Amino acid sequence: QLAYVAGRLVPLRDAHVHVEDRGLQFADALYEVAAVMNGRMLDWDGHLTRLRRGCAALFIEFSMSDAALLAQAQRLVAVNGHRDALLYMQLSRGTARRDHGFPLHARPTLVMTVRRFDFAQRIGQQARGVGVITVNDMRWQRVDLKTTGLLANVLAKQDARAAGAFEGWLVSADGDVREGGSTNAYIVRDGTIITHPLSAHILPGIARATLLRLARDAQITVVERPFTLDEALAADEALLTSTTAPLLPVVTIDGRPVGDGAPGPVAARLAALVWDEIARQTGW
Ligand code: PMP
Repeated sequence: QLAYVAGRLVPLRDAHVHVEDRGLQFADALYEVAAVMNGRMLDWDGHLTRLRRGCAALFIEFSMSDAALLAQAQRLVAVNGHRDALLYMQLSRGTARRDHGFPLHARPTLVMTVRRFDFAQRIGQQARGVGVITVNDMRWQRVDLKTTGLLANVLAKQDARAAGAFEGWLVSADGDVREGGSTNAYIVRDGTIITHPLSAHILPGIARATLLRLARDAQITVVERPFTLDEALAADEALLTSTTAPLLPVVTIDGRPVGDGAPGPVAARLAALVWDEIARQTGW
């Protein structure tokens, strides 16, 4: 098992960053999680574009070219020999004596790991559906940036686990369901997919973009607007997506059934579209 640390491949167990890395001290860092399926990268361009957008928004001067980054990522995937895995990339502002303001001379620190991942487990979960619980969204106001400051997401997921649920849905003070702790959220009403619009309050998920594109191509109506928890409880179906869970039906919210409490036809149709797209890109 090898990891990439600032330009070098090192054994994963010895892979570390400096104690004064700003990622560690301030969560002054961006990250991406990309799926490797059948040895191939899924939606690489989407991840790269999101990372570059984050760099621009946070003034992180990351000088590595797109081609070099892809080459390093592919080399790491290849040397680890996994067919199905998650590639984790983290880019911090760099290492410097602790001071809130940007350091003058630090260079960004890029680290990458690849860990085996069983995507097939999602097929069974898709057939059964998953439960979510709701928690207050107590994150900061720029969660469209994929920073490593994930404590609110961590607590939401832990609450969900403790309740035997798959995910915690983050609900605003106004009662809007924004997204899950690590997934985007959707409801289905009369055959229409409803999901929170892109804004500073949700992460622009790569799986979200794929799902909405596939749905529209299949003439399924998509409406991007906030929806409330009450609407979700009254919906026909609910769903979630992410890189690690391409499409899962949500069958309970806080223990209450959505629709008839079983995966519905729109979820099944969307799941077929999503897995077809994955097969097209990766042969999985
Ligand atoms: N929302 C949040 C808060 C997330 O952390 C993630 C996963 N990174 C997602 C949504 C899903 O994003 P993606 O489809 O790019 O994995």
